[in-house]
Amino acid sequence: MKEIEEKANYCLNCKIKPCSLKGCPLGNNIPEFIKAVKEEKYKEAYQILSETTVLPGVCGKICPHMKQCQGSCVRGIKGEPVSIGDIEAYIFQKAVEEGYNLKDAINKKAMPELSDKKIAIVGGGPAGLTCAAFLAKDGLDVTIYEKYDYLGGLLVHGIPDFRLPKENVKETVNRILDLGIKVEYNKELGKNLKLEELEKKYDAVFLSIGANKPAKMGVTGEQLDGVYGGNELLEYKTHPNYEEKVVSVIGGGNVAMDCSRTIKRLRSKRSKCYL
Ligand code: SF4
Repeated sequence: MKEIEEKANYCLNCKIKPCSLKGCPLGNNIPEFIKAVKEEKYKEAYQILSETTVLPGVCGKICPHMKQCQGSCVRGIKGEPVSIGDIEAYIFQKAVEEGYNLKDAINKKAMPELSDKKIAIVGGGPAGLTCAAFLAKDGLDVTIYEKYDYLGGLLVHGIPDFRLPKENVKETVNRILDLGIKVEYNKELGKNLKLEELEKKYDAVFLSIGANKPAKMGVTGEQLDGVYGGNELLEYKTHPNYEEKVVSVIGGGNVAMDCSRTIKRLRSKRSKCYL
């Protein structure tokens, strides 16, 4: 708490908002929600965030802050930038503890003229959930079709718990569903779900099925046993037995780090990253 206060007080509340306008892809009103935290108005901070995002509990934890908001923070020119991600994550934590919900945080309907429209969202990962939430908060009738028996997509199966606690994902999903969104689980496009049928039944269909096919890396031996794509391991959990094995991870981004740490926890003798 004191630590968050210090982090918030370090913000200059710049009028020109480079952190929001240049750094945040969602345009979150960063100086305003930090100002609300400084004044200990956490509900207001959550409301400000909810105008532009329904995933603060996720983004606060896993966004590449140094490339985005914190990378554009003026405090970073001569020293450390403001810890915007930590402050965002704290606001979400407060929302959970104090029971602020997304429904109450949204106080206006941006598109009332569309409120009789029915929308199908195919895929319940972060893109599908965000689209569903913003349409539902505008009063549209939204149904998500999800191939698994849970929502969250790669937030659940692609990012390990030690980086993104599953409790945050569960709370996020519950808040979004609370907006009155319907869900059809175990429905996979091309298997037991047809696009033509959705097009007949709905006014619009949003496809957010991800890019799940393992990408080819173009490395020698890729077709052989023992060479895997990162998402392949994390999403489909097709882990071989690592015990006493030395594993090379090629790449240095988040997926590479998640793979390295997961492999290590699965008892490889040594895992090494090649950047
Ligand atoms: S740029 Fe940094 S100091 Fe300025 S408002 Fe944004 S977070 Fe605060």
